[in-house]
Amino acid sequence: MSTLDIINPATGQIVRAVEADTEATVARKVAEAREAQRAWAASALETRISVIGRFKALLSEQIEALAATQTEETGKPISQARGEIQATGPRIDFFLEHVAEALQPVAAASAAQTGGTAEQITYDAMGVVANISAWNYPWFVGTNVYIPALLTGSAVLYKPSEIATGTGLHMARLMTEAGLPQGLFTPIIGGGDVGAALLAQPVDGVFFTGSYATGVKVAEAAARQLAHVQLELGGKDPLYVCDDVDVAAVAAAAADGAFYNAGQSCCAVERIYVHRAVYDEFVEALVEAVKGFKVGDPTDPETYLGPLARQAQVPVLQGQVKDAVAKGARVCLEGGPVDKPGAWFSPVVLADVDHSMEIMVEESFGPVIGVQAVEDDLQAVARMQDTRYGLTSSVYTPDEARARRILSQIKSGSVYWNCCDRVSPRMPWTGRGHSGVGSTLGMEGIRSFLVPRSWHLRGPA
Ligand code: NDP
Repeated sequence: MSTLDIINPATGQIVRAVEADTEATVARKVAEAREAQRAWAASALETRISVIGRFKALLSEQIEALAATQTEETGKPISQARGEIQATGPRIDFFLEHVAEALQPVAAASAAQTGGTAEQITYDAMGVVANISAWNYPWFVGTNVYIPALLTGSAVLYKPSEIATGTGLHMARLMTEAGLPQGLFTPIIGGGDVGAALLAQPVDGVFFTGSYATGVKVAEAAARQLAHVQLELGGKDPLYVCDDVDVAAVAAAAADGAFYNAGQSCCAVERIYVHRAVYDEFVEALVEAVKGFKVGDPTDPETYLGPLARQAQVPVLQGQVKDAVAKGARVCLEGGPVDKPGAWFSPVVLADVDHSMEIMVEESFGPVIGVQAVEDDLQAVARMQDTRYGLTSSVYTPDEARARRILSQIKSGSVYWNCCDRVSPRMPWTGRGHSGVGSTLGMEGIRSFLVPRSWHLRGPA
Protein backbone atom coordinates (compact mmCIF):
# COMPACT_ATOMS: atom_id res chain seq x y z
CA MET A 1 0.00 0.00 0.00
CA SER A 2 1.24 3.52 -0.73
CA THR A 3 0.35 6.55 1.35
CA LEU A 4 -1.25 9.83 0.37
CA ASP A 5 -0.16 13.07 2.04
CA ILE A 6 -2.91 15.54 2.93
CA ILE A 7 -1.53 19.08 2.71
CA ASN A 8 -3.00 22.17 4.34
CA PRO A 9 -2.93 24.75 1.51
CA ALA A 10 -2.91 27.61 4.02
CA THR A 11 0.44 26.52 5.44
CA GLY A 12 1.91 24.07 2.93
CA GLN A 13 2.30 21.57 5.81
CA ILE A 14 1.37 17.90 5.62
CA VAL A 15 -1.49 17.40 8.08
CA ARG A 16 -1.77 13.64 7.82
CA ALA A 17 -0.89 10.69 5.63
CA VAL A 18 -3.53 8.12 4.70
CA GLU A 19 -3.25 4.71 3.12
CA ALA A 20 -4.09 4.73 -0.57
CA ASP A 21 -5.93 1.97 -2.41
CA THR A 22 -4.24 -0.32 -4.91
CA GLU A 23 -5.65 -2.10 -7.96
CA ALA A 24 -6.18 -5.18 -5.76
CA THR A 25 -8.01 -3.37 -2.95
CA VAL A 26 -10.16 -1.48 -5.48
CA ALA A 27 -11.13 -4.78 -7.14
CA ARG A 28 -12.02 -6.31 -3.75
CA LYS A 29 -14.14 -3.28 -2.78
CA VAL A 30 -16.04 -3.39 -6.09
CA ALA A 31 -16.76 -7.09 -5.60
CA GLU A 32 -18.04 -6.40 -2.05
CA ALA A 33 -20.24 -3.60 -3.38
CA ARG A 34 -21.71 -5.97 -6.00
CA GLU A 35 -22.54 -8.49 -3.30
CA ALA A 36 -24.07 -5.94 -0.91
CA GLN A 37 -26.09 -4.16 -3.60
CA ARG A 38 -28.45 -7.09 -4.30
CA ALA A 39 -29.91 -7.12 -0.78
CA TRP A 40 -29.97 -3.33 -0.61
CA ALA A 41 -31.97 -3.02 -3.86
CA ALA A 42 -34.41 -5.60 -2.48
CA SER A 43 -34.83 -3.74 0.83
CA ALA A 44 -37.92 -1.64 1.56
CA LEU A 45 -37.69 1.96 0.38
CA GLU A 46 -38.57 3.05 3.96
CA THR A 47 -35.39 1.35 5.20
CA ARG A 48 -33.24 3.26 2.72
CA ILE A 49 -35.02 6.52 3.50
CA SER A 50 -34.48 6.04 7.21
CA VAL A 51 -30.72 5.40 6.85
CA ILE A 52 -30.25 8.50 4.69
CA GLY A 53 -32.40 10.54 7.10
CA ARG A 54 -30.03 9.53 9.91
CA PHE A 55 -27.02 10.45 7.77
CA LYS A 56 -28.53 13.90 7.27
CA ALA A 57 -29.10 14.33 11.00
CA LEU A 58 -25.47 13.36 11.73
CA LEU A 59 -24.27 16.04 9.30
CA SER A 60 -25.79 18.80 11.38
CA GLU A 61 -24.76 17.20 14.69
CA GLN A 62 -21.12 16.99 13.60
CA ILE A 63 -20.93 20.12 11.48
CA GLU A 64 -18.03 21.71 13.37
CA ALA A 65 -15.68 18.75 12.97
CA LEU A 66 -16.68 18.26 9.33
CA ALA A 67 -16.19 21.93 8.46
CA ALA A 68 -12.81 21.99 10.23
CA THR A 69 -11.56 19.07 8.13
CA GLN A 70 -12.73 20.71 4.92
CA THR A 71 -11.02 23.99 5.81
CA GLU A 72 -7.82 22.23 6.79
CA GLU A 73 -7.50 20.20 3.59
CA THR A 74 -8.98 22.53 0.94
CA GLY A 75 -8.41 26.00 2.45
CA LYS A 76 -12.10 26.87 2.16
CA PRO A 77 -12.92 29.62 4.68
CA ILE A 78 -14.58 28.06 7.71
CA SER A 79 -17.80 30.09 7.38
CA GLN A 80 -18.15 28.90 3.75
CA ALA A 81 -17.40 25.28 4.76
CA ARG A 82 -20.11 25.46 7.44
CA GLY A 83 -22.48 27.07 4.92
CA GLU A 84 -21.94 24.24 2.43
CA ILE A 85 -22.58 21.50 4.99
CA GLN A 86 -25.68 23.29 6.33
CA ALA A 87 -27.07 23.71 2.80
CA THR A 88 -26.50 20.02 2.06
CA GLY A 89 -29.44 19.19 4.38
CA PRO A 90 -32.16 20.71 2.15
CA ARG A 91 -30.67 18.94 -0.88
CA ILE A 92 -30.94 15.61 0.91
CA ASP A 93 -34.52 16.52 1.90
CA PHE A 94 -35.45 16.96 -1.75
CA PHE A 95 -34.25 13.44 -2.53
CA LEU A 96 -35.95 11.97 0.55
CA GLU A 97 -39.24 13.62 -0.39
CA HIS A 98 -39.21 12.69 -4.09
CA VAL A 99 -37.59 9.28 -4.37
CA ALA A 100 -40.90 7.40 -4.02
CA GLU A 101 -42.39 9.42 -6.88
CA ALA A 102 -39.40 8.64 -9.14
CA LEU A 103 -39.76 4.91 -8.42
CA GLN A 104 -43.50 4.79 -9.18
CA PRO A 105 -44.32 2.25 -11.90
CA VAL A 106 -45.93 3.68 -15.03
CA ALA A 107 -48.92 2.02 -16.71
CA ALA A 108 -48.09 2.63 -20.36
CA ALA A 109 -51.17 0.86 -21.76
CA SER A 110 -53.90 -1.49 -20.55
CA ALA A 111 -54.59 -4.87 -22.16
CA ALA A 112 -57.81 -3.43 -23.56
CA GLN A 113 -55.94 -0.62 -25.28
CA THR A 114 -53.45 -2.92 -27.04
CA GLY A 115 -55.76 -5.80 -27.83
CA GLY A 116 -54.53 -8.15 -25.10
CA THR A 117 -51.11 -7.14 -23.72
CA ALA A 118 -50.79 -4.74 -20.80
CA GLU A 119 -47.66 -2.58 -20.86
CA GLN A 120 -45.98 -1.38 -17.71
CA ILE A 121 -42.68 0.30 -16.85
CA THR A 122 -40.86 -0.24 -13.56
CA TYR A 123 -37.53 1.16 -12.47
CA ASP A 124 -34.53 -0.85 -11.27
CA ALA A 125 -31.52 0.42 -9.40
CA MET A 126 -28.53 1.07 -11.65
CA GLY A 127 -26.39 -1.39 -9.66
CA VAL A 128 -22.80 -0.57 -8.73
CA VAL A 129 -21.94 3.08 -9.23
CA ALA A 130 -18.48 4.68 -9.31
CA ASN A 131 -18.60 8.27 -8.12
CA ILE A 132 -15.38 10.19 -8.86
CA SER A 133 -15.70 13.55 -7.23
CA ALA A 134 -14.16 17.03 -6.96
CA TRP A 135 -12.77 18.87 -3.93
CA ASN A 136 -14.27 22.34 -4.32
CA TYR A 137 -17.74 21.56 -2.90
CA PRO A 138 -17.24 17.96 -1.77
CA TRP A 139 -20.49 17.81 0.24
CA PHE A 140 -22.64 19.30 -2.51
CA VAL A 141 -21.25 17.44 -5.49
CA GLY A 142 -20.84 14.20 -3.54
CA THR A 143 -24.33 14.05 -2.05
CA ASN A 144 -25.86 15.10 -5.41
CA VAL A 145 -24.71 11.71 -6.66
CA TYR A 146 -24.50 9.20 -3.84
CA ILE A 147 -27.70 10.13 -1.97
CA PRO A 148 -30.07 9.43 -4.91
CA ALA A 149 -27.91 6.44 -5.89
CA LEU A 150 -28.27 4.87 -2.43
CA LEU A 151 -31.94 5.80 -2.05
CA THR A 152 -32.80 4.09 -5.32
CA GLY A 153 -30.92 0.91 -4.36
CA SER A 154 -27.45 1.20 -5.87
CA ALA A 155 -24.10 0.69 -4.12
CA VAL A 156 -21.50 3.45 -4.39
CA LEU A 157 -17.72 3.43 -4.66
CA TYR A 158 -16.84 7.00 -3.75
CA LYS A 159 -13.49 8.35 -4.92
CA PRO A 160 -13.01 11.78 -3.33
CA SER A 161 -10.48 14.10 -4.87
CA GLU A 162 -7.21 13.44 -3.06
CA ILE A 163 -7.47 17.05 -1.87
CA ALA A 164 -10.73 16.24 -0.04
CA THR A 165 -9.76 12.80 1.24
CA GLY A 166 -10.48 13.56 4.92
CA THR A 167 -13.95 14.74 3.98
CA GLY A 168 -14.52 11.56 1.95
CA LEU A 169 -13.51 9.45 4.95
CA HIS A 170 -15.94 11.42 7.16
CA MET A 171 -18.72 10.68 4.67
CA ALA A 172 -18.04 6.94 4.88
CA ARG A 173 -17.88 7.06 8.69
CA LEU A 174 -21.21 8.90 8.89
CA MET A 175 -22.85 6.39 6.55
CA THR A 176 -21.72 3.59 8.89
CA GLU A 177 -22.94 5.51 11.95
CA ALA A 178 -26.26 6.02 10.16
CA GLY A 179 -26.64 2.25 9.86
CA LEU A 180 -25.80 1.72 6.19
CA PRO A 181 -24.73 -1.92 5.74
CA GLN A 182 -21.10 -2.59 4.83
CA GLY A 183 -20.16 -2.46 1.15
CA LEU A 184 -22.79 0.04 0.05
CA PHE A 185 -20.75 3.23 0.39
CA THR A 186 -17.05 2.55 0.12
CA PRO A 187 -14.36 5.21 -0.11
CA ILE A 188 -11.68 4.65 -2.73
CA ILE A 189 -8.64 6.56 -1.59
CA GLY A 190 -5.86 7.87 -3.79
CA GLY A 191 -5.02 10.13 -6.71
CA GLY A 192 -5.99 10.02 -10.39
CA ASP A 193 -4.29 6.63 -10.87
CA VAL A 194 -6.60 5.09 -8.25
CA GLY A 195 -9.59 6.75 -9.99
CA ALA A 196 -8.42 5.12 -13.23
CA ALA A 197 -8.12 1.74 -11.44
CA LEU A 198 -11.74 2.08 -10.30
CA LEU A 199 -12.87 2.68 -13.88
CA ALA A 200 -11.12 -0.50 -14.99
CA GLN A 201 -13.52 -2.46 -12.76
CA PRO A 202 -16.91 -3.77 -13.92
CA VAL A 203 -19.23 -1.01 -12.66
CA ASP A 204 -22.67 -0.18 -14.05
CA GLY A 205 -22.51 3.61 -13.83
CA VAL A 206 -19.80 6.25 -13.70
CA PHE A 207 -20.72 9.61 -12.21
CA PHE A 208 -17.90 12.10 -12.45
CA THR A 209 -17.47 15.68 -11.23
CA GLY A 210 -14.33 17.46 -12.30
CA SER A 211 -12.56 19.15 -15.17
CA TYR A 212 -13.27 18.76 -18.88
CA ALA A 213 -9.83 17.23 -19.49
CA THR A 214 -10.29 14.49 -16.90
CA GLY A 215 -13.94 14.07 -17.91
CA VAL A 216 -12.86 13.03 -21.40
CA LYS A 217 -10.49 10.40 -19.96
CA VAL A 218 -13.24 9.13 -17.65
CA ALA A 219 -15.74 8.85 -20.52
CA GLU A 220 -13.18 6.94 -22.61
CA ALA A 221 -12.50 4.51 -19.76
CA ALA A 222 -16.21 3.99 -19.07
CA ALA A 223 -16.87 3.38 -22.77
CA ARG A 224 -14.70 0.24 -22.66
CA GLN A 225 -17.28 -1.47 -20.48
CA LEU A 226 -20.26 0.49 -21.77
CA ALA A 227 -21.06 1.78 -18.30
CA HIS A 228 -23.64 4.56 -18.09
CA VAL A 229 -21.71 7.87 -17.89
CA GLN A 230 -22.60 11.20 -16.38
CA LEU A 231 -20.19 14.14 -16.35
CA GLU A 232 -20.50 17.36 -14.36
CA LEU A 233 -17.66 19.47 -15.69
CA GLY A 234 -16.24 22.97 -15.63
CA GLY A 235 -17.40 26.24 -17.08
CA LYS A 236 -16.43 29.70 -18.27
CA ASP A 237 -19.63 31.28 -17.06
CA PRO A 238 -20.50 34.74 -18.39
CA LEU A 239 -22.34 37.58 -16.64
CA TYR A 240 -23.75 40.51 -18.61
CA VAL A 241 -24.52 43.88 -17.03
CA CYS A 242 -27.08 45.91 -18.99
CA ASP A 243 -27.15 49.70 -19.09
CA ASP A 244 -30.24 50.07 -16.86
CA VAL A 245 -28.98 48.60 -13.56
CA ASP A 246 -28.06 49.82 -10.09
CA VAL A 247 -24.33 49.57 -10.83
CA ALA A 248 -22.98 49.35 -7.27
CA ALA A 249 -25.42 46.58 -6.30
CA VAL A 250 -24.68 44.54 -9.42
CA ALA A 251 -20.92 45.00 -8.99
CA ALA A 252 -21.21 43.64 -5.44
CA ALA A 253 -23.21 40.62 -6.67
CA ALA A 254 -20.77 39.97 -9.52
CA ALA A 255 -17.78 40.21 -7.16
CA ASP A 256 -19.35 37.60 -4.88
CA GLY A 257 -20.17 35.37 -7.88
CA ALA A 258 -16.59 35.57 -9.12
CA PHE A 259 -14.65 35.38 -5.83
CA TYR A 260 -16.69 33.17 -3.45
CA ASN A 261 -14.58 30.14 -2.46
CA ALA A 262 -11.63 31.96 -4.12
CA GLY A 263 -13.38 31.58 -7.48
CA GLN A 264 -13.16 27.78 -7.23
CA SER A 265 -16.79 27.05 -8.05
CA CYS A 266 -17.93 25.24 -11.17
CA CYS A 267 -20.53 27.99 -11.64
CA ALA A 268 -18.32 30.91 -10.58
CA VAL A 269 -18.65 34.01 -12.72
CA GLU A 270 -15.61 33.72 -15.00
CA ARG A 271 -16.24 36.51 -17.56
CA ILE A 272 -18.03 39.84 -17.18
CA TYR A 273 -19.44 41.88 -20.07
CA VAL A 274 -20.70 45.38 -19.34
CA HIS A 275 -22.75 47.72 -21.52
CA ARG A 276 -20.48 50.58 -22.56
CA ALA A 277 -22.85 53.14 -20.96
CA VAL A 278 -22.03 51.89 -17.43
CA TYR A 279 -18.64 50.25 -18.06
CA ASP A 280 -16.29 52.65 -16.25
CA GLU A 281 -18.62 53.04 -13.29
CA PHE A 282 -18.99 49.25 -13.05
CA VAL A 283 -15.26 48.50 -13.16
CA GLU A 284 -14.63 51.00 -10.37
CA ALA A 285 -17.43 49.57 -8.23
CA LEU A 286 -16.24 45.99 -8.85
CA VAL A 287 -12.72 46.83 -7.69
CA GLU A 288 -14.12 48.50 -4.54
CA ALA A 289 -16.26 45.43 -3.81
CA VAL A 290 -13.31 43.05 -4.21
CA LYS A 291 -11.06 45.25 -2.06
CA GLY A 292 -13.69 44.87 0.68
CA PHE A 293 -13.20 41.09 0.92
CA LYS A 294 -11.29 39.93 3.97
CA VAL A 295 -8.36 37.81 2.79
CA GLY A 296 -6.39 35.54 5.11
CA ASP A 297 -6.53 32.69 7.60
CA PRO A 298 -9.34 30.34 6.48
CA THR A 299 -10.03 29.26 10.07
CA ASP A 300 -11.07 32.84 10.96
CA PRO A 301 -14.88 33.08 10.65
CA GLU A 302 -14.53 36.61 9.21
CA THR A 303 -12.34 35.46 6.29
CA TYR A 304 -13.95 35.58 2.86
CA LEU A 305 -10.92 34.65 0.71
CA GLY A 306 -8.49 31.96 1.81
CA PRO A 307 -5.73 30.19 -0.13
CA LEU A 308 -6.29 28.21 -3.30
CA ALA A 309 -6.79 24.50 -2.70
CA ARG A 310 -3.94 23.56 -5.02
CA GLN A 311 -0.45 25.00 -5.33
CA ALA A 312 -0.41 23.85 -8.98
CA GLN A 313 -3.09 26.40 -9.87
CA VAL A 314 -0.92 29.37 -8.81
CA PRO A 315 1.27 29.38 -11.96
CA VAL A 316 -1.82 28.71 -14.14
CA LEU A 317 -3.51 31.88 -12.86
CA GLN A 318 -0.28 33.84 -13.03
CA GLY A 319 0.10 32.75 -16.67
CA GLN A 320 -3.45 33.85 -17.54
CA VAL A 321 -2.87 37.28 -16.01
CA LYS A 322 0.51 37.71 -17.75
CA ASP A 323 -0.98 36.67 -21.09
CA ALA A 324 -3.82 39.20 -20.73
CA VAL A 325 -1.55 42.05 -19.71
CA ALA A 326 0.83 41.31 -22.60
CA LYS A 327 -2.16 41.57 -24.97
CA GLY A 328 -3.36 44.92 -23.60
CA ALA A 329 -5.53 44.23 -20.53
CA ARG A 330 -5.64 46.99 -17.90
CA VAL A 331 -4.80 45.91 -14.32
CA CYS A 332 -7.42 47.51 -12.06
CA LEU A 333 -6.65 45.46 -8.98
CA GLU A 334 -3.15 44.11 -8.83
CA GLY A 335 -2.67 40.79 -7.09
CA GLY A 336 -1.07 37.45 -7.76
CA PRO A 337 1.12 34.88 -6.01
CA VAL A 338 1.90 35.72 -2.41
CA ASP A 339 5.36 34.95 -1.13
CA LYS A 340 4.55 32.74 1.86
CA PRO A 341 4.13 29.00 2.42
CA GLY A 342 0.90 27.54 1.04
CA ALA A 343 -1.11 28.19 -2.12
CA TRP A 344 -1.80 31.90 -1.82
CA PHE A 345 -2.93 34.14 -4.68
CA SER A 346 -4.39 37.57 -4.00
CA PRO A 347 -7.34 38.74 -6.13
CA VAL A 348 -6.88 40.30 -9.57
CA VAL A 349 -9.35 42.41 -11.58
CA LEU A 350 -8.54 43.09 -15.24
CA ALA A 351 -10.47 45.43 -17.55
CA ASP A 352 -10.34 45.96 -21.34
CA VAL A 353 -9.88 42.23 -21.92
CA ASP A 354 -10.92 40.37 -25.08
CA HIS A 355 -11.27 36.84 -26.39
CA SER A 356 -7.71 36.65 -27.70
CA MET A 357 -6.73 36.34 -24.02
CA GLU A 358 -6.70 33.03 -22.12
CA ILE A 359 -8.46 34.67 -19.18
CA MET A 360 -11.64 35.01 -21.27
CA VAL A 361 -11.62 31.53 -22.78
CA GLU A 362 -9.92 29.05 -20.40
CA GLU A 363 -11.47 28.13 -17.05
CA SER A 364 -9.55 30.13 -14.39
CA PHE A 365 -10.91 28.50 -11.23
CA GLY A 366 -9.32 31.16 -9.07
CA PRO A 367 -9.65 34.72 -7.73
CA VAL A 368 -9.15 36.51 -11.05
CA ILE A 369 -11.74 38.15 -13.30
CA GLY A 370 -11.74 39.92 -16.65
CA VAL A 371 -14.22 42.65 -17.63
CA GLN A 372 -15.00 43.59 -21.23
CA ALA A 373 -17.19 46.43 -22.60
CA VAL A 374 -19.93 45.65 -25.14
CA GLU A 375 -21.90 48.08 -27.31
CA ASP A 376 -25.32 46.42 -27.12
CA ASP A 377 -27.23 43.23 -26.27
CA LEU A 378 -26.45 41.69 -29.63
CA GLN A 379 -22.73 41.97 -29.03
CA ALA A 380 -23.18 40.72 -25.47
CA VAL A 381 -24.94 37.58 -26.73
CA ALA A 382 -22.19 36.97 -29.30
CA ARG A 383 -19.48 37.24 -26.62
CA MET A 384 -21.36 35.10 -24.08
CA GLN A 385 -21.87 32.39 -26.72
CA ASP A 386 -18.22 32.36 -27.70
CA THR A 387 -17.19 29.39 -25.57
CA ARG A 388 -17.06 25.61 -25.70
CA TYR A 389 -18.56 25.49 -22.21
CA GLY A 390 -22.22 25.91 -21.22
CA LEU A 391 -22.86 25.61 -17.50
CA THR A 392 -24.47 28.91 -16.35
CA SER A 393 -25.04 32.44 -17.69
CA SER A 394 -26.39 35.56 -15.96
CA VAL A 395 -27.97 38.81 -17.06
CA TYR A 396 -28.55 41.81 -14.82
CA THR A 397 -31.31 44.23 -15.85
CA PRO A 398 -34.62 45.28 -14.25
CA ASP A 399 -36.32 44.27 -17.53
CA GLU A 400 -37.38 40.59 -17.38
CA ALA A 401 -38.33 40.42 -21.06
CA ARG A 402 -34.90 41.72 -22.04
CA ALA A 403 -33.18 39.18 -19.78
CA ARG A 404 -35.28 36.31 -21.14
CA ARG A 405 -34.60 37.39 -24.73
CA ILE A 406 -30.86 37.34 -24.10
CA LEU A 407 -30.71 34.20 -21.97
CA SER A 408 -32.86 32.11 -24.29
CA GLN A 409 -30.25 32.56 -27.04
CA ILE A 410 -27.40 31.19 -24.95
CA LYS A 411 -26.30 27.57 -24.81
CA SER A 412 -26.32 27.06 -21.05
CA GLY A 413 -27.62 24.47 -18.58
CA SER A 414 -28.76 27.12 -16.08
CA VAL A 415 -29.63 30.76 -16.76
CA TYR A 416 -29.94 33.50 -14.14
CA TRP A 417 -31.86 36.77 -14.18
CA ASN A 418 -30.45 39.20 -11.57
CA CYS A 419 -28.61 36.42 -9.73
CA CYS A 420 -25.62 34.16 -10.32
CA ASP A 421 -23.60 31.27 -8.84
CA ARG A 422 -26.78 29.60 -7.57
CA VAL A 423 -27.89 25.95 -7.47
CA SER A 424 -31.34 24.63 -6.50
CA PRO A 425 -32.07 21.06 -5.38
CA ARG A 426 -35.43 21.30 -7.18
CA MET A 427 -33.99 21.86 -10.66
CA PRO A 428 -31.71 19.77 -12.85
CA TRP A 429 -28.04 20.77 -12.68
CA THR A 430 -26.73 20.17 -16.14
CA GLY A 431 -24.20 21.43 -18.63
CA ARG A 432 -24.00 21.87 -22.37
CA GLY A 433 -20.92 21.23 -24.53
CA HIS A 434 -17.72 20.86 -22.53
CA SER A 435 -19.64 21.45 -19.27
CA GLY A 436 -20.93 17.92 -19.23
CA VAL A 437 -23.46 15.23 -19.96
CA GLY A 438 -26.55 14.35 -17.90
CA SER A 439 -28.15 15.95 -14.83
CA THR A 440 -27.90 15.81 -11.08
CA LEU A 441 -30.55 17.32 -8.75
CA GLY A 442 -34.24 17.75 -9.49
CA MET A 443 -36.35 14.74 -10.51
CA GLU A 444 -33.92 14.15 -13.41
CA GLY A 445 -31.16 13.82 -10.81
CA ILE A 446 -33.00 10.89 -9.20
CA ARG A 447 -34.00 9.26 -12.48
CA SER A 448 -30.33 9.35 -13.55
CA PHE A 449 -29.81 6.39 -11.21
CA LEU A 450 -32.71 4.30 -12.48
CA VAL A 451 -32.88 1.91 -15.38
CA PRO A 452 -36.29 1.17 -16.87
CA ARG A 453 -37.72 -2.32 -17.21
CA SER A 454 -40.52 -2.70 -19.77
CA TRP A 455 -43.16 -5.31 -18.87
CA HIS A 456 -45.31 -6.85 -21.64
CA LEU A 457 -48.09 -8.67 -19.72
CA ARG A 458 -50.45 -10.99 -21.50
CA GLY A 459 -52.76 -13.11 -19.36
CA PRO A 460 -53.50 -16.79 -20.17
CA ALA A 461 -55.22 -17.18 -23.54
P1 NDP B 1 -10.13 17.01 -11.77
O1 NDP B 1 -10.70 16.76 -13.11
O2 NDP B 1 -8.70 17.32 -11.65
O3 NDP B 1 -10.40 15.75 -10.80
C1 NDP B 1 -11.68 15.24 -10.56
C2 NDP B 1 -11.57 13.84 -9.98
O4 NDP B 1 -11.05 12.95 -10.96
C3 NDP B 1 -10.62 13.74 -8.79
O5 NDP B 1 -11.17 12.83 -7.86
C4 NDP B 1 -9.36 13.22 -9.43
O6 NDP B 1 -8.51 12.59 -8.52
C5 NDP B 1 -9.93 12.23 -10.42
N1 NDP B 1 -9.06 11.83 -11.52
C6 NDP B 1 -7.99 12.48 -12.03
N2 NDP B 1 -7.49 11.79 -13.09
C7 NDP B 1 -8.27 10.68 -13.25
C8 NDP B 1 -8.28 9.57 -14.17
N3 NDP B 1 -7.40 9.47 -15.17
N4 NDP B 1 -9.25 8.64 -14.03
C9 NDP B 1 -10.18 8.73 -13.07
N5 NDP B 1 -10.20 9.73 -12.16
C10 NDP B 1 -9.27 10.70 -12.25
O7 NDP B 1 -11.02 18.17 -11.12
P2 NDP B 1 -10.88 18.90 -9.72
O8 NDP B 1 -11.04 17.94 -8.61
O9 NDP B 1 -9.67 19.75 -9.74
O10 NDP B 1 -12.18 19.81 -9.71
C11 NDP B 1 -12.24 21.02 -10.37
C12 NDP B 1 -13.03 20.91 -11.66
O11 NDP B 1 -14.31 20.36 -11.38
C13 NDP B 1 -13.31 22.26 -12.30
O12 NDP B 1 -13.15 22.17 -13.69
C14 NDP B 1 -14.76 22.52 -11.92
O13 NDP B 1 -15.39 23.44 -12.78
C15 NDP B 1 -15.33 21.15 -11.98
N6 NDP B 1 -16.56 21.04 -11.21
C16 NDP B 1 -17.76 20.92 -11.86
C17 NDP B 1 -18.95 20.88 -11.16
C18 NDP B 1 -20.27 20.76 -11.86
O14 NDP B 1 -21.25 20.48 -11.17
N7 NDP B 1 -20.37 20.95 -13.16
C19 NDP B 1 -18.96 20.99 -9.70
C20 NDP B 1 -17.65 21.09 -9.11
C21 NDP B 1 -16.50 21.12 -9.85
P3 NDP B 1 -7.37 13.45 -7.77
O15 NDP B 1 -7.96 14.77 -7.38
O16 NDP B 1 -7.07 12.63 -6.60
O17 NDP B 1 -6.26 13.61 -8.76
